[in-house]
Amino acid sequence: MKCPVCGCQEFFVKDPDDAFETHGFSVASGAVRFEADAAEAPAHGIHEATETYCNKCSWHGKLGELKKT
Ligand SMILES: [Zn+2]
Repeated sequence: MKCPVCGCQEFFVKDPDDAFETHGFSVASGAVRFEADAAEAPAHGIHEATETYCNKCSWHGKLGELKKT
């Protein structure tokens, strides 16, 4: 799993309950791993349709799309 544009493996999602809150995670291990610890993960979790943003470039899309790359 990596960004289809820049190849970066670090992304973030916006908190569904607070658009100003973001949760960063890495997919370097092949699975979604939130920064620091699990407490960093959004309360309601993320799923295939969660809008995901690349940390390094302007790519964004559904988490499910990312898994296919
Ligand atoms: Zn990118």
